[in-house]
Amino acid sequence: MARDRGPQCKQCRREGEKLFLKGERCLTEKCGVERRAYPPGEHGRGRQKQSEYRLQLREKQKARRYYGVLEKQFRNYYDRASRQSGVTGENLLRLLESRFDNVLVRLGFAGSRRQARQLILHGHWAVNGRRVNIPSYHVRANDVIAMRAGSGATDAVREATDLVSAVPAWLQADHDGLTAKVLRHPERSEISVPVQEQLIVELYSK
Ligand code: SF4
Repeated sequence: MARDRGPQCKQCRREGEKLFLKGERCLTEKCGVERRAYPPGEHGRGRQKQSEYRLQLREKQKARRYYGVLEKQFRNYYDRASRQSGVTGENLLRLLESRFDNVLVRLGFAGSRRQARQLILHGHWAVNGRRVNIPSYHVRANDVIAMRAGSGATDAVREATDLVSAVPAWLQADHDGLTAKVLRHPERSEISVPVQEQLIVELYSK
């Protein structure tokens, strides 16, 4: 499976804000953005040219990095969102938010999307009783998510549950039983992501 293997803190520094890509470390003073609050690279501290295109591009990159999705996949999500009824930007975020790896993070079953992806790929999770090892799997209302019996990742998952303060209202989690249920699709107001999706729509509509 193709994925972005670059240094994660550099991605946050490029976007100028914390994208919480590393789980627990993001909450400590070791966070790259806290220590070096300027873009990476030789010209990182130089003056940045501002343009409409640059703002739109950065917003798209930020969303892509936040969800850990590569360019082509992201574009496919956009195309799908634009074919759906309703507001394209909101549809896009709803599709990204419903990815299985993201849902595990929202439920508190993984500290980061990268960890969630690894747990899924290694076959530790089941949806509606069937093993699902596809991180981009799109969860639907009434799906029941559960750690598979005999999984060796129980300790890692229990550690991750300590990091989450609240589970969004569209999901229901049982942190003791390591099971969860998708109650419905998320509303835009329930998607906590530092992205202005309208700028992404403007970029792709050119
Ligand atoms: Fe981003 Fe986390 Fe690295 Fe901070 S520690 S820069 S939030 S990935």
